[in-house]
Amino acid sequence: MENKLYDVIVIGAGPAGMTAAVYASRAGLNVLMLEKGAPGGQMVNTYEVENYTGFEKISGPDLSMKMFEHTQKLGVQYAYGDVIGLVDEGKTKVVLTDSYKYQTKAVIIATGTINRRLNAKGEDKLAGRGISWCAICDGAFYRNKDVVVIGGGNSAVEEALYLSGICRKVTIIHRRDEFRAEKIAQERVAASEKIVFELDSVVESFNEINDKLGSVTVKNVKTNNTKDILCDGAFIYVGQDPVTSMFKNVISLNKNGYIITNDKMETNLLGIYAAGDVTVKDLRQIITATNDGAIAAQNALKYIESIH
Ligand code: FAD
Ligand code: NAP
Repeated sequence: MENKLYDVIVIGAGPAGMTAAVYASRAGLNVLMLEKGAPGGQMVNTYEVENYTGFEKISGPDLSMKMFEHTQKLGVQYAYGDVIGLVDEGKTKVVLTDSYKYQTKAVIIATGTINRRLNAKGEDKLAGRGISWCAICDGAFYRNKDVVVIGGGNSAVEEALYLSGICRKVTIIHRRDEFRAEKIAQERVAASEKIVFELDSVVESFNEINDKLGSVTVKNVKTNNTKDILCDGAFIYVGQDPVTSMFKNVISLNKNGYIITNDKMETNLLGIYAAGDVTVKDLRQIITATNDGAIAAQNALKYIESIH
């Protein structure tokens, strides 16, 4: 256990966590931000962001670095840590990582979400051998090759567009005949000559050829017909799940595992706040994550002042 008592520990350095850290630090609080991956969260894996006000277009990694540099200029302490638990001891909270215990007056949870698996046959075996959840990380492996993208939300449609700039052909496989992605993104994929659609279709299996992905078998849910689509890569974008398993016995979650907060980003426990995609909310975006982070930090400050 570290002897030091922090004012605020922020768990997760995505846009929600980094904004919380900026606000808390500017308020004069002693802030530690713990992150198990790279600063930026989901932004690191996003090719281009076009809806964060002030930046008509900015790459996800660039926006991540700008936010991180901002935290560092303000003196936010940053440490690697995979948080595995949280203990509420009243005025002191203990944050447990895989290797340390940290003490703090207030906690802001901003652990975001992780990509959901499809749980189709062959997925586990071929993960990393043709199957990926990140076009910006792995797209370049498929230059001038054929790939499929599974899903119909913003992620699937936008990442399909990104892949169409690299690959020979991109097939979007979606279980319905309507997309939930924003209209502007739908219009762009419809206009692309490299993108084709396999609608009303679900993946039955990912098939191996020579030790790596060689095709996917899809079933049309209206006709029940199946067919194989030859491909070198498959990118799965079928939604996200919240990263909250380590908090499930501590704070209130909804039935899907998202953290329940009020409009002050307070959880059911005094001094513990949550911000960003990990919370119950309608719109999961960078800008709404930063909004939550600012509110959480502001209320953490008021809480800390109240316990003096
Ligand atoms: P995240 O960005 O998920 O960050 C959470 C952080 O917490 C991560 O860095 C993670 O490693 C860390 N963490 C998790 N568990 C632990 C732990 N146990 N210990 C320590 N650290 C932990 N939004 C837009 O506004 N515009 C876009 O163009 C856009 N494009 C997107 C493209 C894709 C492919 C995806 C998947 C999402 C996109 N989004 C976009 C949504 C946006 O990225 C999210 O809404 C936003 O990143 C949420 O921020 P967050 O800080 O809440 O969570
Ligand atoms: P999402 O919006 O939840 O969409 C998931 C897609 O996968 C849906 O089309 C869904 O189909 C499909 N799907 C879910 N489970 C499936 C299954 N088992 N089999 C086949 N298909 C399945 O997820 P997302 O696209 O990853 O987006 C996540 C969040 O990030 C959203 O809030 C989104 O707005 C945000 N985001 C924003 C941007 C942006 O602002 N530009 C970009 C990317 C992501 P149905 O439609 O039939 O349910």
